[in-house]
Amino acid sequence: MPFFDSLNQLLFPTRCFGCAALGLSICSNCRYDWHPHYYKTHISQLNVHSAVPYSSTASRIILASKENGLKGADNLIINAITHVLIKADFVNHNIRLVPIPSSPSARRRRGRSFIVDITKSVAQRSGLPLSDSLELTRRVRDQSGLDATARAHNMAGAFALKRGAYPRGDLILIDDVVTTGATLHEAARALRSAGFNPIAAVTACLAQPLR
Ligand SMILES: [Zn+2]
Repeated sequence: MPFFDSLNQLLFPTRCFGCAALGLSICSNCRYDWHPHYYKTHISQLNVHSAVPYSSTASRIILASKENGLKGADNLIINAITHVLIKADFVNHNIRLVPIPSSPSARRRRGRSFIVDITKSVAQRSGLPLSDSLELTRRVRDQSGLDATARAHNMAGAFALKRGAYPRGDLILIDDVVTTGATLHEAARALRSAGFNPIAAVTACLAQPLR
């Protein structure tokens, strides 16, 4: 549909998600901040594999995807996570991707379950199966501004296996950002306590925790 594509460009010209410059969804300057590499950390008894260090560019890209559902920003995150899955090389494992669920209120506000949606595209692109098997069992606070102790307390016992879910195999947790690892730790705990086997996590971004 080239006609509609060019009409779309005229009405809604592409701007950089990092700095709003016209042209590409990410300009060459901001590409410097958002360039998928491969970082491996060990947080809360989990190997965490990530693509880009958190930065103001990264935070704008994540907001554009999470809160505004912009396709171009989704694609940057999908590419980053897929890149890390390939680099991490889980080939000898029987992998299943398990997305971190969002709260019902966030799902209503955004019109979708953000990480579940992103993980569906990652599954399509990587050929790895998805198992959307976790859910929130209670209200949790927004974690920005919370330190490691507060985050751990905020997340403790917040996830459970969905009714009827049976995520066999070696489970890879998928999230947008890892900070202290409190969310990933809780997700791994919920899976392990139900007898399943989370082996690692993959995130688009790696952030420095508040001390
Ligand atoms: Zn830019």
